[in-house]
Amino acid sequence: MEQKNLIKQIFTEVINPGNCFHCGLCEGLSKNLFKMTNTSKGPIPKLIRKPVKNDISDLKKIVHACPGRGIPYHHLSKKLITSKKSKIIGNYNSLYIASSNSNLIRQKASSGGLVRSLLIELIKSKKVDYVCILDEKEEKILNFDVLLTNSIDKILNTSQSIYQTTPLLHKLKKLKKNKKYVFVGLPEHIASLRILKVNYPKDYAHIKFLISIYSGTNMYPGAIEFYLKGNGVRNINDIKKIDWRYGEWPGMLRIVTKNKILSLKKFYYNYLIPFFISKNCLITPDFTGELSDVSVGDAWSPTLENKGYGYSVAITRSKVFDEILIKLKRNNSLYVKKINFKNAIRMHAHMIEFKKVGSYLRIEKLKKRGPVPLYDLEPINISYLRKFIEKIIGLIISIASNKIIKSLFSLINSKILGFVFKIVRQLWKSITKPTKRKGLNNIKIIEVNNKRVKEFLNT
Ligand SMILES: Cc1cc2nc3c(=O)[nH]c(=O)nc-3n(C[C@H](O)[C@H](O)[C@H](O)COP(=O)(O)OP(=O)(O)OC[C@H]3O[C@@H](n4cnc5c(N)ncnc54)[C@H](O)[C@@H]3O)c2cc1C
Ligand code: SF4
Repeated sequence: MEQKNLIKQIFTEVINPGNCFHCGLCEGLSKNLFKMTNTSKGPIPKLIRKPVKNDISDLKKIVHACPGRGIPYHHLSKKLITSKKSKIIGNYNSLYIASSNSNLIRQKASSGGLVRSLLIELIKSKKVDYVCILDEKEEKILNFDVLLTNSIDKILNTSQSIYQTTPLLHKLKKLKKNKKYVFVGLPEHIASLRILKVNYPKDYAHIKFLISIYSGTNMYPGAIEFYLKGNGVRNINDIKKIDWRYGEWPGMLRIVTKNKILSLKKFYYNYLIPFFISKNCLITPDFTGELSDVSVGDAWSPTLENKGYGYSVAITRSKVFDEILIKLKRNNSLYVKKINFKNAIRMHAHMIEFKKVGSYLRIEKLKKRGPVPLYDLEPINISYLRKFIEKIIGLIISIASNKIIKSLFSLINSKILGFVFKIVRQLWKSITKPTKRKGLNNIKIIEVNNKRVKEFLNT
């Protein structure tokens, strides 16, 4: 009976209302009970057999750590041993910009190649035995899976940022308890693993380190087909290779097909976002991966972007990563420079606001229709103008995600759409910037109590 109730809870609170974050934990923690299944709205867990009594302890863990039910970020953040407190990027030690000095690493980097530099150092110094990273399956275009490896060559060659909802935790059972692992994931994967590590420390001691990449928006599958259609390529099987961040930073989408090579600048292909944006990235307040040991993003700043070389921004939340960064700077593997809080925020002010204020407003709206993820922090005193801006964002996304609108727009050449989108986006950013900046500067975030917090405190 209890097993049935737990399954019911996962379906009624998360899967049925469309709150699944596609993380794969359901499959990763249970014994052939769930299987992640591809849908047009991202991979969703499907129940593949009847639950039995022996599933109860796995199901309890899933219910505790499912990001679709929300995450008590503030309470979990307090468990990290850090020197500085922040409710908008999570507690932390230091902030850096960094870039690999190795051409080999930077050539295939999303930003400064910092993530792979850290992974290689963790393997070389034997701090971990294996890395768990997302990669494109060999010879399988747009088919991604977790790669467990200790091969430096394989780490060097992992795919760049993959802007498609993809499970990452479905292989948790395959990890060996007597080995040490580092996991690279998006904020939701990292938050889920942190809950497991805090609530069940002995069971997850083998997952030594958590590296989060910043994540603003992610997309459902279909975005690449949409892009191809606008370029006269009808068959996805015509693709031979995809690079999401090809060439000089910030890089471009580059697709090699049987007959031609297509490419579009990073800021142009952002036009795909309103058509394919995944719901999970609209209902999470976590942009930086607040529960990681170290978080890495693009170091967006006009000065660095003009250099074009490729820079990452990093937030350390564990002493180990401060030490590694200092070591890699000393042996000249990395360019590393400390930055202050104001600079780090300025690089991503728009997206932080989109998550900290925007997600809250979007969740408030969804609350009227059914269960929503519950968090332990809330922004207060949001202006009427900001609420109005959110209504327009919601309207644009709901129109763009309509099937008919999508198929009409897919016929327009991507270069035209990309160009128009870039102009509209810049215009929109400059109109909304004063309200959003004011909102971010005056933002007051308060602690809230709810059933998710109580449940976490009682575990
Ligand atoms: C969906 C998505 C949204 C993002 N949004 C932002 C943003 O708004 N702002 C920002 O500053 N940065 C964002 N990033 C992060 C950014 O694109 C880079 O990944 C980050 O700067 C690290 O770059 P790097 O050169 O240090 O990493 P690299 O050394 O190039 O290594 C990249 C690592 O990321 C892993 N990876 C790639 N895609 C995924 C994925 N989908 N899930 C899990 N792991 C993955 C790879 O396995 C590899 O280990 C986003 C990334 C993704 C995947
Ligand atoms: S968010 Fe993850 S754990 Fe929750 S239902 Fe979806 S796949 Fe399962």
